[in-house]
Amino acid sequence: MLIRGTGIGGGVAVGTVARMADPLPEPEDRRSTLGVDAEIDRANQALARVAADLEERGDAAGGPAKQILEAQALMAKDPTLVGQVVERIGEGATAERAVFEGLAGYRELLVGLGGYLAERAADVDDVSQRVRASLAGVPTPGVPDPGHPFVLVARDLSPADAATLDPEQVLALVAGEGGPTSHTAIIAREKGLVAVVGAPEALTLQDGADVIVDAAHGTVTLEPTADELAAATARIAERAALAEAPVQPGALADGTPVPLLANLGSTDGLDDALRRGAEGVGLFRTEFLFLEADEAPSVQAQQEQYTRLLAAFPGRNVVVRVLDAGADKPLAFLDTQDEPNPALGLRGIRSLRASEQVLRDQLTALARADAATDAVLEVMAPMVATVDETRYFTALARELGIRTAGVMVETPAAALTADRILSVADFASIGTNDLAQYTMAADRLLGSVAHLQDPWHPAVLRLVGEVGAAGAALGKPVGICGEAAADPLLAVVLVGLGATSLSMSPSALADVRASLAEFGRADAERLARVALAAEGADEARAAAEAEAAAIHTAE
Ligand code: PEP
Ligand code: MG
Repeated sequence: MLIRGTGIGGGVAVGTVARMADPLPEPEDRRSTLGVDAEIDRANQALARVAADLEERGDAAGGPAKQILEAQALMAKDPTLVGQVVERIGEGATAERAVFEGLAGYRELLVGLGGYLAERAADVDDVSQRVRASLAGVPTPGVPDPGHPFVLVARDLSPADAATLDPEQVLALVAGEGGPTSHTAIIAREKGLVAVVGAPEALTLQDGADVIVDAAHGTVTLEPTADELAAATARIAERAALAEAPVQPGALADGTPVPLLANLGSTDGLDDALRRGAEGVGLFRTEFLFLEADEAPSVQAQQEQYTRLLAAFPGRNVVVRVLDAGADKPLAFLDTQDEPNPALGLRGIRSLRASEQVLRDQLTALARADAATDAVLEVMAPMVATVDETRYFTALARELGIRTAGVMVETPAAALTADRILSVADFASIGTNDLAQYTMAADRLLGSVAHLQDPWHPAVLRLVGEVGAAGAALGKPVGICGEAAADPLLAVVLVGLGATSLSMSPSALADVRASLAEFGRADAERLARVALAAEGADEARAAAEAEAAAIHTAE
């Protein structure tokens, strides 16, 4: 059986499935038929089992996880909680309902106390799920722990679950929901996990089933044949060798350079990006530095962060984006509006223009960091829709000492007037995540429309081609910094459409570097032509794959 979804990156993995159970629903509020004593026994035993299990896990995990798990074990043993559960059972409730209500009461208490204690509410929910799963004799919801490396199959992952996945244990991740720009996909890419998302059929897979997960083709093969296994194992070995290979600058097979740059959201990832051969930074998301801040950061605080970033790339290009507040990236000090459609509201350059001092401070901090370091700083504005916004931003940036000022192309309006925008801006960088969202009218935060959020769609590709053509005509660089650049075959198509550099999560660099090296410029243009001519996203991907296979056979 072959299951299809959207592959993230180019990895392959072979392993056995461990499913992540869905959260348990609220138990029915009905009278117990077992009798009070039997229900009290069940509840006590389940609470004790869960407490012991959490303690055991804590001992095995060590470090900060041990403290969290021990605190959870204490909750399950808390005499006040046990007393409340017993009381509810005495009133006729089932053990499930009594545990649910008892822990919900505990949760409310913590939330009412606020601060650090309120943040433990999710831990209480987790204990409630564990005890009720134990009562029902079903697997505990959450990331499973079968005791050996496994292929994780889940409907979707919460950001917290995704962020704590251990790449040593999780050979691959298969999610029923989610698109290429979902949190799960972004975190999988960051961690370098082999992943296929948006594969609803995968939810029929059973624990222990043998599978091959092929992210390059977006497939999951159930019970593979010996030949399929041998081919997958050979590809895993090839990729391991690739990751070890000395890193070269990005280039097509004919030598055309395509600088490969890193997308970063903090200075923590700098060493990893350099180790993976990032030739510079194509997108530094500055808003990620200040997501928790209530007040606009000072020039001094910003200057320190930017200096650290620029100092890591002497002589290299570093593209910093000014604060992109709003919609999926709210910032307390810039978001003042309660908007019905935040993605269409006062976001990106619009919100900065409304709070110009914040933008002035940021540009000043950047110009000072630039003066103190040897990187080639380029600064760009997010969510630009008009030539007027381009003129406003580039003029202000130059006034404050920024030498190279560009804009992100994330709206169809900017793509369709790229010739005029690029006659004002020094460069363009295409944000394919938002460009796909706005072109397809599909909210990037909504799982229900994730299938439409596909940068392979010819409508999105045609807009990229408009920007590429404008850049070529005016001799201005056109980068790509959305997740699309991390898809090895799409990366070649984007170069065929006129992209002059590609920026991505550092974990994708090796795959994209290898893919570019397989095609010359004429090949890239051919791949772009067949993708543009397709009917939809799936057809464009399939047509490009077929054309790539034909190019390889002709060699
Ligand atoms: C994009 O929209 O493609 C982009 C790179 O910006 P972000 O994902 O931060 O909105
Ligand atoms: Mg964007």
